Amino acid sequence: MSEKQDVITIDGPAGVGKSTVSRKVAGATEYTYLDTGAMYRAVGLYLERLGINLDESETVSRSLDELRMQLLPAVDDQSDICVLLGGEDVSDIIRTPAMAMIASRVSAIPVVREKLTEMQRVLGKEGRVVAEGRDTGTVVFPMAKHKFFLDADPRERARRRVEQLRQRGMEVDEAEILAMTLSRDKNDRERKIAPLKAAEDAVKIETTDISIDEVVEKILQKISPALERRAGEK
Ligand code: C5P
Repeated sequence: MSEKQDVITIDGPAGVGKSTVSRKVAGATEYTYLDTGAMYRAVGLYLERLGINLDESETVSRSLDELRMQLLPAVDDQSDICVLLGGEDVSDIIRTPAMAMIASRVSAIPVVREKLTEMQRVLGKEGRVVAEGRDTGTVVFPMAKHKFFLDADPRERARRRVEQLRQRGMEVDEAEILAMTLSRDKNDRERKIAPLKAAEDAVKIETTDISIDEVVEKILQKISPALERRAGEK
């Protein structure tokens, strides 16, 4: 039997609180936080800026050969990871609702998924990583030691997303964010490759009525026996 990988995957739909939870879990375990959504957002920005036709997979594929994307670790467990595109810091630009929609569109393109899945596996190969996204437990790290799938009612997810965007200083309309959340859910769940779904061996956590800290607590409780075992082996 192949060995499990020392990776914690946290998947779930838009606005469920994955980023905040993952950052806190990474902080508590001293693992590296891998935000795969940021990679899809950055590729969305890259392809949009090139103005190429997303339906032409040959052109998309050729452009991806030129992609220079770097992820730098977040400075603390409150901050986003830093994403550089050709040396330019695009961390803030990729966080808008419009960029989320573009990310959702490009994430259904097979060559994009192939490229990013490969990059994510390289970033996770040394282990001690908390990977967050839609398919990290199903496709990117199927042998991850710990898998979680977070879910919440769409209205609650839209409310959390509005709060987060307002904290970032963006003016957003709640009804519009709810519509975008539902549209992204549909795209992400219904696409042919690596759709959003829980891995069979993922622990599912319904978060509608619980706080972020309670979610983090549940995850840490679940993984702590394994972490303690490892510390004892050192
Ligand atoms: O998580 P975040 O909202 O930043 O993700 C933006 C979009 O990137 C998602 O709506 C989804 O379409 C895509 N994505 C993906 N697979 C991942 C992470 C993100 O398809 N592992």
